[in-house]
Amino acid sequence: MQIVTSPRAMRAACKALQRVVPSQTIGLVPTMGALHEGHLSLVRASRQQCDRTVATIFVNPLQFGPNEDFTRYPRTFQQDCELLEAEGVDLLFAPASEEMYPAQMQTIVDVPEIGGRLDGASRQGHFRGVATVVCKLFNIIQPDRAFFGQKDAAQVAVLQAMVRDLNFDLELVVCPIVREANGLAMSSRNRYLSDEERKEAQALSRSLCSVQRAVAEGQRSVTTLRETLLHELAAAASLRVDYADVVDPNTLESMSELPASALVAVAAWVGQTRLIDNCIVHTEEVAL
Ligand code: AMP
Repeated sequence: MQIVTSPRAMRAACKALQRVVPSQTIGLVPTMGALHEGHLSLVRASRQQCDRTVATIFVNPLQFGPNEDFTRYPRTFQQDCELLEAEGVDLLFAPASEEMYPAQMQTIVDVPEIGGRLDGASRQGHFRGVATVVCKLFNIIQPDRAFFGQKDAAQVAVLQAMVRDLNFDLELVVCPIVREANGLAMSSRNRYLSDEERKEAQALSRSLCSVQRAVAEGQRSVTTLRETLLHELAAAASLRVDYADVVDPNTLESMSELPASALVAVAAWVGQTRLIDNCIVHTEEVAL
């Protein structure tokens, strides 16, 4: 696995990949490192669907607020490299912050409406940071497909809008959430949790399961489903809810009526750690 740290060298390396066999497809897996099975599932999907797989590791300062965990975000670069190498990644881009954001940088990518909902509402400027860095990665690497996790459902909605609006010639592939055996969605931030907090954190996935159950049993009232979420989350005494909502998966707008597919999304603080989780519920059988 070749490791590249400057955008200019990365662009050259990606062009070189394409020159070897002009028709070969490139899959991109962007990450912030501290890799776990969720990240590796994206790499495996890319390896299945594309000829070459490029991963990135960049803890993007632009998507962290001033009081967030940028400085203490886990950084496990050596171990990450070993994992990516073992999965057959061809090229790893791991730039320094100054390489991605030189002092003269002026341009920001903003998806203001969608990017202001869910996590965008509680983390001001977060999705501007995400859209800007992903836009830069797309331009540097020019992938045919880019792989993202359903775990970050709001991020997916923002990036789908960006790809559409800015005419990127690539396909976003959304991969399912990988969970621990107890239901907790895998996250680099799970490393922050104590044993006690890890137990409390299971309330997030439990709350989603209870909504799925309620919908399967015929519940269609969004108000009732929101109450179900809050009721389950309240059972974990130390957990502080950020949001718990049923929204349109594409626009992230809150809704009063349950549509054919809805995104059920929760975010909560467990101690100092902010965790997110979600599921999609379907109210109609999908016709084959
Ligand atoms: P991050 O390193 O947290 O920025 O995540 C990089 C990519 O991995 C994003 O597309 C995430 O949605 C995805 N990802 C993170 N956790 C999971 C998970 N548990 N299952 C599937 N994908 C995930």
